[in-house]
Amino acid sequence: MFQKTYKADSIEEIPGIAAEIHDMSVYRSASCKVLLAWAQLWEEESFLAFRQEISDRFSDFTVIGSNSHSRDDILKNIMDGSGDEMGCLLTFLFFENSSVSLYGIKTGYREEDREGRELKDLILNTKDPKGVFLVPPDYVSSMEDVLAELKDVKDIPVFGIKTSLHQGYKCFGYEPGKEVIEGRLLAMIFHGESLEIRARYNLGWTPVGKIMTVTKEENPFFVDEIDGKEASFVYNRYLGLRNDQIVPQNLSEFPLIIERDGIRVSRIGITGPKEGQLIFGAPVYLNDRIRLSYGNPDDLFMEVTEDTNDIAAFEAQAGFLIVCVNRVMLLKEREYEEIELYRKKLKEVAAVYGFGELFYHNGKGGELNSALVSVSMKETGIAAHAGETEETEQAGQTEDTALSDTVLVPFHDRLSRMFKEMSGDLIMAVKEAEEANRAKSVFYSAVSHEIRTPLNSILGMNEMILKECGDENILKYSGNIKSAGKLLLQLINDILDTGKIEAGKMEIVPVEYNAKDMMDELAEMISYSAKEKGLEFVYAVNGELPAVLYGDEKRIRQCILNLLSNAVKYTPSGKVIFAVNASVTDKDHARLKIRVSDSGIGIKPEDIEKLSNPFERVDNSKNYKVEGTGLGLNIVNRLLALMDSKLEIRSVYGQGSQFSFEIGQEIPQDTEADGRAGNSQSSAGNEWGDLKAETASILVVDDTDMNLQLVRILLKDSRIDIDTALNGPAALELAAKKKYDIIFLDLRMPGMNGIEVFQKLKEDHDGININTPVVLLTANEGEDVRQKYIEEGFTDYMSKPFTPVMLENMIRKHLPEGKTSGSGL
Ligand code: ADP
Repeated sequence: MFQKTYKADSIEEIPGIAAEIHDMSVYRSASCKVLLAWAQLWEEESFLAFRQEISDRFSDFTVIGSNSHSRDDILKNIMDGSGDEMGCLLTFLFFENSSVSLYGIKTGYREEDREGRELKDLILNTKDPKGVFLVPPDYVSSMEDVLAELKDVKDIPVFGIKTSLHQGYKCFGYEPGKEVIEGRLLAMIFHGESLEIRARYNLGWTPVGKIMTVTKEENPFFVDEIDGKEASFVYNRYLGLRNDQIVPQNLSEFPLIIERDGIRVSRIGITGPKEGQLIFGAPVYLNDRIRLSYGNPDDLFMEVTEDTNDIAAFEAQAGFLIVCVNRVMLLKEREYEEIELYRKKLKEVAAVYGFGELFYHNGKGGELNSALVSVSMKETGIAAHAGETEETEQAGQTEDTALSDTVLVPFHDRLSRMFKEMSGDLIMAVKEAEEANRAKSVFYSAVSHEIRTPLNSILGMNEMILKECGDENILKYSGNIKSAGKLLLQLINDILDTGKIEAGKMEIVPVEYNAKDMMDELAEMISYSAKEKGLEFVYAVNGELPAVLYGDEKRIRQCILNLLSNAVKYTPSGKVIFAVNASVTDKDHARLKIRVSDSGIGIKPEDIEKLSNPFERVDNSKNYKVEGTGLGLNIVNRLLALMDSKLEIRSVYGQGSQFSFEIGQEIPQDTEADGRAGNSQSSAGNEWGDLKAETASILVVDDTDMNLQLVRILLKDSRIDIDTALNGPAALELAAKKKYDIIFLDLRMPGMNGIEVFQKLKEDHDGININTPVVLLTANEGEDVRQKYIEEGFTDYMSKPFTPVMLENMIRKHLPEGKTSGSGL
């Protein structure tokens, strides 16, 4: 293929250009002839004359034209404001056996999806499409939604330009012998088997400083808030600009950059009609993560140099550049150098300047700003037109760099270099800290999980010693193992909770529960430890407490228990008060006020705010003897925040403390007499072991032998017939031969997991265990995941590690009537 580019100062020069073109041999031999005709800054009347002249002289070309900034002379115009640099740029492309098709897609307000679908159909219905050039009819149409429809179009670059902001701006196009299209989205599809098109998006600006989030907007062009503050604060604070100073000239070095799918798109916002609002020329979406950036000519050139070297290696035969006016504002006279870099590789390359660049390839890209999109083409197997390329350097011959080699480096370059390096250091430091923190959380939670399983076995077996042993001394040791073990288990659970909260995985799971029972149980539990320490314990429930509430019973219980245990722990003498005040706010809602006060050691005012930090224990001189981790209050604070509540702390050092919170709960309507949720896994006391079911038989499947042994030990007195299996195949073999009353199935097992075993079991429709209840044993799954298992057909689930009480209750719940005896807990 062959390219020829002309610049003209007036319409009068066009006939001469036409004569020259018509004289060329390639004019006669070409399979397809294309003209890109850009007029610069012409008023409407002269633009129409230009259009007429083009269609008169080049009626056998496929043409796209518009009124835009098309000449490098624009620089002068922009820099000295003279505004009289008018002219035009004509780029002729001659294909030897490829072709183009031109379409005009009708545009309309909020019809971008339909426009995109039409464009997609046009591309897919074209044989061998290789690239698409888009010119929207006006500056305001949002092209991102149009482009988004092309996300499944593979390997076909789409590039385009939004041109002038000037009144009277028009774009037009036509195919040889056909009507002129105007006022539509022009789409020129390049196609042909031997055609190759390469398009690349260059930016060169580097993001600096912290990432901010778009938090409120009127629509994607009018942004109200960034990081919860008036949007204009980004320029007020970081560039020191007043709202009336937020104009493009002050922002060109510092566009905002949004990272989308690994592509950086740049945006410049100017002051909007509402106070603090910013208006953008291309979409900025809610939750977009945005950063200020800075531009340094050397960095821009570095990126572009890489591009030009690639173009040379590609052996391009023709090309054009779609360049943002903002680059001119930043680079000023050096903009010539940028275009020269391309000319050195591709002599006839044409640069056209716009106010928005389009680039979309394999689902990535969008409307850009501050960018330079380069498009280069070649027809393979066909030599470039002889005699026209000798001035062009050979492919990949030199590695150009446009870095200026003068000794004095401009102040601006030095300043931005300093910014870049300094913020690079900070970003690296933050990244390292974040990674270390993440690694720490992952490590804690992995280790805690590993410890929890054997620890539970230890506690379970110790429970047997306490139950069966008659030796006083051994019972004492065993009692110590129990209390130390419980503390360790608490610590591990706290670490797991903290990890979950930090990873944003802590879920609030509301269930129906009996609030009075819950408070009574907590009071009873704590009254023992208070009594052991010789403290007076006062418990009072006042107001109107509905029988059944709907909320996260487990987490509320956890918060109150923590406060109560602390009160007992940090009170050497005197009393602990647990007061609940309830009120019904309307027929569906109640409010609980929980207050825990003590006459203990108290907390210094300066220490109170430290208490929400994890692992923070204050006043170590006084409480060094008290066992604790410093995690409890941190978890309480974060759990309460998840439930829209907040811990209030009042304390007088040396005299006592009061911890309180208020929490809203729903009142469920039409609740049954016992509103307790089926799966409530509370364990009030530790008594267990009165389950008797000698005719029952269960199968327990778990890959950890110790867990199987534990179940056997815990259920020893129940006389239940227990079979165990260490893996799925062994379990299925047992289940094929013997009818069980319940099957307990571990979820995570190597080889065949619990779900697969369950499915196999249910596949055998005539199997003797087809109707047997199957209880899934899960580790740390979230509530939604567990619910999914129930939907899949599991009868129930039970969290590991389970307590003896949980196990007994689960068996009671699912054993057929008549097979059990014992009170139940
Ligand atoms: P832990 O009790 O495991 O150390 P917490 O997070 O529950 O951790 O409490 C953090 C710190 O707050 C405690 O170490 C203690 O210094 C202080 N604290 C908590 N509750 C009380 C209280 N009722 N009276 C005095 N100090 C308390």
